[in-house]
Amino acid sequence: MLEASPRPDAATSRKVWTAQEARELFDLPFMELLFQAQTVHRRSFDPNRVQMSRLLSIKTGGCPEDCSYCSQSSRYDSGLSASKLIEVQRVISEARRARDAGATRYCMGAAWRSPKERDMAQIVAMIEGVKALGMETCMTLGMLDGDQARRLKTAGLDYYNHNIDTSEAHYSNVITTRTFADRLETLQNVRDSGIKVCSGGILGLGEGAQDRVDMLVTLANLPEPPESVPVNMLIPVAGTPLADADPVDPIDFVRVIATARIMMPESHVRLSAGRTEMSDEMQALCFFAGANSIFVGDTLLTKDNPDEDDDMRLFAKLGLQPMTVHEHMPATDDDVGEARRLAARAADPAIPVLR
Ligand code: SF4
Repeated sequence: MLEASPRPDAATSRKVWTAQEARELFDLPFMELLFQAQTVHRRSFDPNRVQMSRLLSIKTGGCPEDCSYCSQSSRYDSGLSASKLIEVQRVISEARRARDAGATRYCMGAAWRSPKERDMAQIVAMIEGVKALGMETCMTLGMLDGDQARRLKTAGLDYYNHNIDTSEAHYSNVITTRTFADRLETLQNVRDSGIKVCSGGILGLGEGAQDRVDMLVTLANLPEPPESVPVNMLIPVAGTPLADADPVDPIDFVRVIATARIMMPESHVRLSAGRTEMSDEMQALCFFAGANSIFVGDTLLTKDNPDEDDDMRLFAKLGLQPMTVHEHMPATDDDVGEARRLAARAADPAIPVLR
């Protein structure tokens, strides 16, 4: 039976996953997979803490890309009208409200193929304004070149979200206006600039089990794995090509979360879109499988998200607590103490390690 033992490569001392190894892990009996995932999770994280992010759409709809799942593509009649980039002051006041409600990271998303030069000053001002509130900043603006990534980094951007969505093999069935390689190039530009990477995918795009595994292999084998890995469950949108897509089996969804946790033990694995369709029990299983981040707020870009009161009720039932800013993110000199604490905990013989 495959176990989550590290087999490091010489250059990075990090495990490089083959598709076969990942598939064997993914196909483990469910209870075995969950046990391994929870064990790995406890080596790097407090299992009772969940990071909370808030997402704001700063420019909605009218996107020239053809992502088959997306209500914001101008190619589909989803009934969504396009808006302009919103005012900086509005972003900052929304971020302040989110911070006061407990969110530690503020994610700003624009429906673009890539940012235009004329919008960069406004984008930079948003990053600076949200940073000044003491929050982590994240943006998702489409493809970035190296210069744009460096400018966002200079403004203080902490994370950039750019999902690979699915496997390389399935990618062109979902999106034709850019390639899988384009996605990876932006991720590399983001990484090279020093911004942390947020990248994951969507389940329910007509992919098979191997596509799900291959997507995780791509993410885990990046030169550095993403610090955040959002796993979305498709919410079918009328008017898009995937409007009638088959629903994702909840157990299959939890399997992906558990496999992601084991393959990317240091990453925050985020339950993203689709939580409105998940029962409390399914979300609890996802947290047990190693998910430790959620989006809060009643909308996700253009889709519904659970009411914050519902989230807090679920947290109370499960004894979960929100993470603080930078918890388990030893990215700055100030965080060295935290890094030492985590290293000491990882070496604690009381915490079981699979070999
Ligand atoms: S997912 Fe993003 S890039 Fe694709 S159509 Fe929607 S807004 Fe555009």
